[in-house]
Amino acid sequence: MKILLSKTLYLCAFLWYNFGISQNNTYWQQQADYKMIIDMNVETFQYKGNQHLTYTNNSPDTLTRVYYHLYLNAFQPGSNMDVRLQQIKDPDKRMVNNIGTNDNPIYESRISQLSPNEIGYLNVTSLTQNGVPLIYNIVDTVLEVDLATPIQPGEQTTFDMVFNAQLPVQIRRNGRNNREGVAISMAQWYPKIAEYDFEGWHADAYIAREFHGVWGNFDVKISIDKDYIIGGTGYLQNPEDIGHGYGSKTNNTGNDKLTWHFKAPMVHDFTWAADPNYIHDKLQVKNGPLLHFFYKNNPETKDNWKALQPVAAELMFYFSDAIGAYPYKQYSIIQGGDGGMEYGMCTLITGGRSLRGLIGVTSHEMAHSWFQFLLATNESKHEWMDEGFTSYISTSAMNDVMKLNRKNPHLSSYNRYIALANSGDEQPLTTHADRYNINSAYSTSAYSKGAVFLAQLGYIIGKDNLTKTIKKYFTDFAFKHPTPNAIIRTAEKVSGLELDWYLTDFGQTTNTIDYSIKTVNGLNEMTEITLERKQLMPMPIDLTVNYLDGSSDNFYIPLEMMRGEKPVNGRAIALADWPWVNPYYTFSIDVKKDFIASIVIDPSEHMADTNKSDNTISFDQSENKKQ
Ligand SMILES: [Zn+2]
Repeated sequence: MKILLSKTLYLCAFLWYNFGISQNNTYWQQQADYKMIIDMNVETFQYKGNQHLTYTNNSPDTLTRVYYHLYLNAFQPGSNMDVRLQQIKDPDKRMVNNIGTNDNPIYESRISQLSPNEIGYLNVTSLTQNGVPLIYNIVDTVLEVDLATPIQPGEQTTFDMVFNAQLPVQIRRNGRNNREGVAISMAQWYPKIAEYDFEGWHADAYIAREFHGVWGNFDVKISIDKDYIIGGTGYLQNPEDIGHGYGSKTNNTGNDKLTWHFKAPMVHDFTWAADPNYIHDKLQVKNGPLLHFFYKNNPETKDNWKALQPVAAELMFYFSDAIGAYPYKQYSIIQGGDGGMEYGMCTLITGGRSLRGLIGVTSHEMAHSWFQFLLATNESKHEWMDEGFTSYISTSAMNDVMKLNRKNPHLSSYNRYIALANSGDEQPLTTHADRYNINSAYSTSAYSKGAVFLAQLGYIIGKDNLTKTIKKYFTDFAFKHPTPNAIIRTAEKVSGLELDWYLTDFGQTTNTIDYSIKTVNGLNEMTEITLERKQLMPMPIDLTVNYLDGSSDNFYIPLEMMRGEKPVNGRAIALADWPWVNPYYTFSIDVKKDFIASIVIDPSEHMADTNKSDNTISFDQSENKKQ
């Protein structure tokens, strides 16, 4: 018995030790440094590639397998992406044809209709590890590789791959000849090693979204028809060979092709687009990067692309100031793709938009340089930290840069989230981005509820604390893979408040917030106000009492489990804590009920109350007003 006990104690101590190491003491991340040589055929949209990958295993684990993403294989009849398109109730309209009527739509997957010379593919023709040929298996969009030699913790290995590929006719982020006539959109185009982190391998199939990549350095040489202009990730190393607005061309080799040489330090993706009719403009942001703009020479849209440029510089300044300095020397806004998508040091956006729309999409995609690119959350698992935080900061930027002066610029995010919460279609934010029952529930959760998560965090800890939290989050987690715990712990450290309940309730369940004013009773010279928590999720309460003479008092009811209060700095009267278990809360104010015009819970509308109809009570005091 004694021996058994001591063994158990030893085991517990051992587990605790390991837990302590992995959770608190040592953060690690893998490193993948790519060298690629690409030869593009602009007639067939096919290309050949050689990839030399230096992979460093910084994990404490020995790896016996690795996985690569072969994203382009999604664009084939029968792929996971194709099947999902045919199964989901509300497929992405960019990827289906309606073969029914407007009233009774029947959707046909466009991928299912692609012929062999129209599909996307990424074929691996050889793969070696440190020169030794490897056994591998292509399963849909994932390459499964058995290693010749296991990679020990701290060890480096090299993989050499030869591949050939074809860009699909269907445009989804990448593809050929998009609807605005951009010839080549090269996103998710190369064999990309999957991420291995504290949760293990993330060899997700490409179904609809999203991405998680390994940090590293890229060295990419692309040979393409000499009339084509390339914009993308990375710094051009040979502008004198290229011309095309990069520099004056010194040597004309007389070849049909030019080789563009790019280097990108510490990124986790590499994207580019190419077209023979791009206009290429540049604008230097003061104390910031050089902005590049690549857009079609189209008389209908090119004025907007000119007008966008100074605003893009203001947006870059706003984000650098609000989050943290943009660390690269270059950022490119490139016409291409099928809407707007964020990549390393660049974005691909469609350009046939109003100026306001063009600025809006640029604001959103540029903001992704921070939320998801530099703060590289696994966006398949934590899509709300990617799209939601981006929506929050880009909407804030638009409010400032476009001088919209909205009191709560995030109100439409709140309204969309509340409609979803009341619809019965909501799934928790912990849902994998591909595993929402319907696409619209994904969108509202990721973009709107994710934006509300931050805006409402400002309500809970105070706006100044939120500002500090965002900056500290960047300082502590840029160039890493932050998790939901990272943002909430940062907010706790900044505010000194307990906030894990907020991540749990709002980030991991579909619990909702609903407070109401239950009763207001006059007691001689006093008024007694009783509030009710009608749904499970608790919140601290801001409340305003408006008086007949036009004056008002603000009150703040702290939530007991936060173990503290947000700074109210004389703007509100702090009342006693509300322990969440109690559905009711009563307090008295030193004012006669006859003098009260109205009482309002959360007048700033920063609390995501799913039923606001009972948040305000107004009194008809016309008789009292006359006296
Ligand atoms: Zn986005």
